[in-house]
Amino acid sequence: MIVEMQTGVSQEEVDAVVQKVKSYGWGAQVMAGTDKTVIAILGSNTGRVSTDIFAVYPGVEKVTRIMKPYKLASREVKPKDTIVSINGIEVGGKRVVVMAGPCAVENEKQLTEAARVIKDAGAVILRGGAFKPRTSPFSFQGLQEEGVELLRKVKKQFDLPVVTEVVDTEDLELVSRAADILQVGSRNMQNFSLLTAVGKKQRNMPNGSVPIPVVLKRGFSCTVTEWLTAADYLLAEGNDQVILCERGIRTFEDSTRFQVDIGAVPVIEKVSHLPVIVDPSHAAGHYSLVPAIARAAIAAGADGLLIEVHPNPKEALVDGLQSLTPSDFGRLMKELRQIARAIGRDI
Ligand code: PEP
Ligand code: MN
Repeated sequence: MIVEMQTGVSQEEVDAVVQKVKSYGWGAQVMAGTDKTVIAILGSNTGRVSTDIFAVYPGVEKVTRIMKPYKLASREVKPKDTIVSINGIEVGGKRVVVMAGPCAVENEKQLTEAARVIKDAGAVILRGGAFKPRTSPFSFQGLQEEGVELLRKVKKQFDLPVVTEVVDTEDLELVSRAADILQVGSRNMQNFSLLTAVGKKQRNMPNGSVPIPVVLKRGFSCTVTEWLTAADYLLAEGNDQVILCERGIRTFEDSTRFQVDIGAVPVIEKVSHLPVIVDPSHAAGHYSLVPAIARAAIAAGADGLLIEVHPNPKEALVDGLQSLTPSDFGRLMKELRQIARAIGRDI
């Protein structure tokens, strides 16, 4: 349920509603916007009371039931777009943000070369996993701590923020040493204890601590509703710096590794205030298909892309087949700029 307060409401009036909410054992998330204050009521069985019990309070303008299971990620709670800011780079604004790099951090030479290539081509965030969620325990699991240190070194050298995956709560502290954005992967989208821990994670800054932005990938068997409800776990911890990432879902179709749900992009834009990006690499599974999916994603309104680029895909330890070569990536960036311009955006 959402309680919309009147313009110019007093703190006492807000507090009185919050008290009432708490008396039912529910949570109340107060969002004070520039014009309006909105209170989201968080509880599993809010349906058992009438909206009138809140509507009668002074200062309340409207009480709305939200039938959708997600609340904090919905536009009903926050009509204005959320802009996620990473060292001054904004995701969710006019600019389309390209994040690129290898699937996994393999060694210093590979990561340095990848960073140089993607930066030269115009990408603004470096991707690369130090911890990899692999289907088989016998596959390369990532360089782990050594990978984190390489990410730290290379991001400093190239002045590129890093997006990197955290697969387990026990690695969160370590991964956060390098991560400007924490990636929660497809296989972990419904790992609720990980989401809660990631949502809580703060970075110490000179003027206090701030939440670390998160890329939340869509579980490949999850609906948009389940995805947004998972995002609520991050938002409920007070972290609103959440970027959703469509990376393909499982369907009966097997000509691509996963099937990219391009339609999810405008759906998210309609129902949620959070920015949405697309990962064409894991969706395609093959380098030859990545450019077309990337172009389609921008045309559909994606706020950014997450693309696998390897200096030498033939040598890649992970996902070489879907990684773009430096020259293919350079060509793609030029095409993407034209598409972005055609829809009134920049890259
Ligand atoms: C990745 O980005 O390298 C990755 C493992 O992606 P996903 O979680 O989408 O499979
Ligand atoms: Mn990969």
